[in-house]
Amino acid sequence: MISVSTKLEDLSWIPRPRLLALRRLDIETTEDLLTHFPRRHEDRTEFPQFPREETDAPICLCGEVIKTSLRRFGGWKKIFEATLEESQPNALSEPLVCRWFNLHYVQKMIATGQRIVVFGRPRLRGKRICIDHPEFEVIENDEEISIHFRRITPIYPATEGLSQRVLRGIIYRVLHEFPDAGWQSIAPNSLVHGERSDAIRAIHFPGSWEARDAAREHLVLSEFFAMQMLIASRRFESSARAGQAHCGSGALLDEFLKGLPFELTAAQRKVISEIRRDVAANYPMNRLLQGDVGSGKTVVAIAAMLLVVEAGYEAAFMAPTQILAEQHYEVLRRWLEPLGVHIALRTAARQEESGPLPLFDLGSARVSRAGDGAASSRTFPEVDVALAARYSRRRVPHFKKAWAIYAVTIATKKDRCLSPKARMTVLNSLRHFHNKRYEMFAACVMPDHVHLLIQPWPKGGDDKANTSFWRLSELVHSIKSFSAHEINEIENKSGSIWEKERFDRYVRSDRDLQEKFYYILRNPWDSGVAKQNEDYPWVWTQDDESRNERLFRRDAETSLGDACATQTNEPQIIVGTHALLYESVSFSNLGLTVIDEQHKFGVAQRARLTAREPAPDVLVMTATPIPRTLTMTIYGDLDVSKIDEMPRNRGKIITAVRDTSKLGEVLSFLRTQFEKGRQLYVIYPLIDESEKLDVKAAAAEYELWRERLHPFRCELLHGRIPASEKQQVMGRFRRGDTNALISTTVLEVGVDVPNATMMLIENAERFGLAQLHQLRGRIGRGEHKSTCILLSSSQAKETSAKLAVLERTTNGFEVAEADWELRGPGDVLGTAQSGLPALKIGDLKRDADLMRRARSAAMSIFEMDPRLDLAENQRFRRLIVEQQKQSFSHVS
Ligand code: ADP
Ligand code: MG
Repeated sequence: MISVSTKLEDLSWIPRPRLLALRRLDIETTEDLLTHFPRRHEDRTEFPQFPREETDAPICLCGEVIKTSLRRFGGWKKIFEATLEESQPNALSEPLVCRWFNLHYVQKMIATGQRIVVFGRPRLRGKRICIDHPEFEVIENDEEISIHFRRITPIYPATEGLSQRVLRGIIYRVLHEFPDAGWQSIAPNSLVHGERSDAIRAIHFPGSWEARDAAREHLVLSEFFAMQMLIASRRFESSARAGQAHCGSGALLDEFLKGLPFELTAAQRKVISEIRRDVAANYPMNRLLQGDVGSGKTVVAIAAMLLVVEAGYEAAFMAPTQILAEQHYEVLRRWLEPLGVHIALRTAARQEESGPLPLFDLGSARVSRAGDGAASSRTFPEVDVALAARYSRRRVPHFKKAWAIYAVTIATKKDRCLSPKARMTVLNSLRHFHNKRYEMFAACVMPDHVHLLIQPWPKGGDDKANTSFWRLSELVHSIKSFSAHEINEIENKSGSIWEKERFDRYVRSDRDLQEKFYYILRNPWDSGVAKQNEDYPWVWTQDDESRNERLFRRDAETSLGDACATQTNEPQIIVGTHALLYESVSFSNLGLTVIDEQHKFGVAQRARLTAREPAPDVLVMTATPIPRTLTMTIYGDLDVSKIDEMPRNRGKIITAVRDTSKLGEVLSFLRTQFEKGRQLYVIYPLIDESEKLDVKAAAAEYELWRERLHPFRCELLHGRIPASEKQQVMGRFRRGDTNALISTTVLEVGVDVPNATMMLIENAERFGLAQLHQLRGRIGRGEHKSTCILLSSSQAKETSAKLAVLERTTNGFEVAEADWELRGPGDVLGTAQSGLPALKIGDLKRDADLMRRARSAAMSIFEMDPRLDLAENQRFRRLIVEQQKQSFSHVS
């Protein structure tokens, strides 16, 4: 008897090539197959007559091929045409022409005399009605015709080597053989109607459109319910965990508020009191703070941190970028040092303390080491703190040199699983060449694959003029053969160990590099190979390496002066980038973590933070509002606070889209504003801060603007300018010495100059809506009316629809909703970020309502029975475990 977990290969009637093709679609079991849901359905019970006019909606037609032809044009290009005639032609019938360009396989599949079903948009081409590139299916008159024809027929997401017809045939047969009792219902009866087995049957081969819709609703609700159960379990789990109260009396906070040059808005006050309640409670806070750009989230974060600091705990403030971290650091110092609060900055590239170290309590710290085989955690006596807390400049390497950095993945042959010892061997062989033939930035040896981030070095030799680099393939080859030999030696085996390596193109930008770097370091945790609070010893960074060396040296020297570590003046607030997460030494006394700009931060990372015992309070802040229906999915495990009010002293922002040809008029407008003393930002669209051309293009851009704005003064700002110089440029702009700042999107975060009331964004079409909204948030910060001009040369319909959104509203939520409307959810909900299983049938946008229903069903189960102890809730436990598995497997 087959069940959901039966492997398709065990069915014994599916030919091997088909099994392989199915595997490419990640289909291995009957359940995978039967939950490979149709992408759409075609009504093949009855076909409409051939159209005589164009239609915008695609339609499904059936006819006989009466002629085929192949034409060449422009050298090697080909058009294949098939002319169809209706099955029951009448006097008015016109033939239909189907055309395919450069798809040589189509001509092999279609021949005169066949009947075919086509699906596409009819268009008038000259006098003929044509469908270009229709989806099609040849109808063969075999005994299986009833599966494919004369019914509402499912159309599947397909793959190479597996036609619709074959796939549909396989699904039909498995469905037929599958016992009804094999399906367990997922969602409670209060949420869904009918049985899961019926819904599965009906989604594939529905008897009517209504049946299809009902089946879909059932399945979407079930899928959403499973997802919400996972979210709810995370939520209840974290609130059930031991936490501590981290709240001081509030005297420090009061003092801070008294010194502020403005009154808090009502919304800020409300949110601070919500946070205060959480911080004072003895369960860990898990709160999301949403508030539009400029709504004043930083003040709220500071308030939260002060409460915690006053109670004697540390607070960490994490920002997604260097610039933002530096800005927070400046603001905090300005506001908090007068109150006697000690603040330190920790980023990949810079560290600075306003008080003396130590930052980390190394007395009881766990240090993960790449150097020994077992999952190690060792306790070290007090070490030289300044050294140990040192942050390597290379922690996140910067893309400065002419040669390239590669992200390489090497898989083992046949998914062979490397023993811990073998993994160590691999890591050691990687280390062997580090700083000899290449520089390695990060490496992670997973059980069945290896990730590396390396930059090949020049080969030795003095011929400076004619340097050649180690070739990547050479390098990987040596690593592979060296480690394979060693592993076989240890394990007393022979045979090959590695597959051919894959490499992503070379790393193209800092951002790219950072992403890869973190991806590699996170991999064991994100993929579930290691538990969140567990060490995974086969991860390597340059910091680990130098730390090991130091520890080695120290061990040899024996410790000096352990006892005289100063405990006074430790920083109470540590500002940093995500690097804080990967610091393998823990904080001594962390009470609160604030994460700014959460949308760049994944659930897995958050989990890594909160896995500490006792759990710190966590406040995540996002300025990029996401649509409400997504909030309950992505942030479903958090309590939500909202700042829904802007500080009162804000001038209005007018946004206008202008064609590039109108630049002259725009310039004269800008001049009138300059004369009133206002200032301007010009944003030009070098989106990638580190593209090679960047510096040159920026300089050219700058020259151009200097001429245009003459005699007003401008200065240039971009990511490659050294930090000290950047500060000077900003200083002059802030003081009003310069009238205009020509900048890349580094301005997106971190700049606050109330007198700058004008922003001009060039090639606005190249930015996303969310980013434009963020950029625009730099103006409108003072009392004067502000103007944002979006220059665009694109005539495309989508572009004008997109930019019109910004003309219409300055409300971030509306922008987010519209953005979603225009783009679809794919981009908003990066699957890896959401830490949730991929959806198979539900659509977050279209089915928002079903999501709400599923959510309240899941929540009410947990409210009644938070630990799922009741007998009737037992089945949900398994569901959650399964979901958990899936959510990590699709990330790795
Ligand atoms: P965001 O929410 O985008 O992080 P910020 O916290 O950077 O916004 O605040 C933007 C600016 O508004 C800052 O200069 C901040 O000092 C100021 N600000 C914050 N709250 C108020 C308020 N209640 N009244 C006036 N200005 C405020
Ligand atoms: Mg902010």
